[in-house]
Amino acid sequence: MNRKCPVLYLVLPCYNESETIDHSAVKVKEKLQRMVSEGKISPYSKALFVDDGSKDDTLSKLHELTKNDTVFGTVALSSNRGHQNAIMAGMMTARKFADIVVTIDADLQQDIEALDEFVLKFTEGCDVVYGIRNDRSSDGFFKKMTASAYYGLMHTLGASIMTNHADYRLLSKRALDMLSEYKETNLFLRGLIPTMGFQSDVVYFDVKEREFGKSKYTLKKMLNLALDGITSMSIRPLHIISAIGFIIFLISIALGIFTLVEFFMGNNIPGYTTSIFVSLLMGGMTMVSLGIMGEYVGKVYMETKHRPRYLIDSVVLKDTGDVDKE
Ligand code: UDP
Ligand code: MG
Repeated sequence: MNRKCPVLYLVLPCYNESETIDHSAVKVKEKLQRMVSEGKISPYSKALFVDDGSKDDTLSKLHELTKNDTVFGTVALSSNRGHQNAIMAGMMTARKFADIVVTIDADLQQDIEALDEFVLKFTEGCDVVYGIRNDRSSDGFFKKMTASAYYGLMHTLGASIMTNHADYRLLSKRALDMLSEYKETNLFLRGLIPTMGFQSDVVYFDVKEREFGKSKYTLKKMLNLALDGITSMSIRPLHIISAIGFIIFLISIALGIFTLVEFFMGNNIPGYTTSIFVSLLMGGMTMVSLGIMGEYVGKVYMETKHRPRYLIDSVVLKDTGDVDKE
C-alpha cells in the first residue's frame, strides 16, 4: 500500500441521478486532476460510479462517460439494492486497484474539497477517515429532529456510531480487505466500521443543498436504514423487553397476593377500571414485544439465507495501472 501518492478511487452511488451525473462528473474530474497535479494522488486515480439499478437513463449516461474518459469507471448492479449495498459493491470492486477509497454521494452535497484532508490523514497513517458534517443548517426541521433523536437512541443502545457522520468516508485497502470479511446481509456501514478498530481520524465538511434532481432517500428507505442500524448493531431492545417482562412478573405476584388477601378478608371491591386498564396495558406490551422479537427473527431469517448482497451486471474500468493490488 502506497502511503505517499496513493491510488484513490472515489465511489459514487447513483440511483436515478440522470440530472446530476454530468455536472458531478465534471466537478469530480476537475478535483481529481488537481490533486494529481499537486502530487497528492496517483494519476491512476478514478471516479467509480455505481448504478444502483436506476430506472432512468443514468446507466447509459455513465457508459457514455466511461467510454470517453478513463478517469471514470462504472459498476452496474442488476437491480436497486439500496445505498449501503451500492457503496459496498463500489468499494469491493475498487479495492482490487486502489490504495484508498472514498465514498461520496453522487449529488456532491458533501463538500468534495475536503478530499485533500482525507488523503492527508491517510498519508499520516490512518486507515479510516470519517467525514463529519459541520452543522445541519441545510436540513429541514423534520430531518434535524429525527437525526438527533436517532443518534441519541443509537448511543443509548450501545452502538458505537459517530454523530453526524454519513457515508462520506475514506477506507484504506487494508480496511477494505478486512471489511470484505463481514458477510452480513443486514448492512449498516456507519455502525460496522468503527467496530473494526483501525487507526482513524475525522474530517469536518459542509453540506450543501442538492443542486439537481430530488432526494432519492424516500421516507421508507430512511426508516429501513434506521431499523437496520438498530437491529444490526444492538440486541439491547431484546434485553429491555426481558427486563420489563421481569418487572411486570414481580408486580403481578405482589398484586396476586394482595388480591388473595383482600378476598379472604371479604373486601371484594368492584375493580372494573383496573381490570380493563391492566389487560389493555398487558395486551399492548405483549404486542410490542412480539413485534420487536419479530424484527430480529426476520433479520435472522434473512441472514441465514446467505444471499449475495448485490449482483453486479457489468463493470467498465480502463487503464487501471500495471500494479495489481492483490
Ligand atoms: N442512492 C442509491 N440507492 C438508493 C437511494 C439512494 O444509491 O436506493 C444514492 C443516491 O443516488 C445518492 C446517495 O445515495 O448518490 C444519497 O442519496 P440522496 O442524495 O438522495 O439522499 P439525501 O442526500 O437526500 O439524504
Ligand atoms: Mg443527497
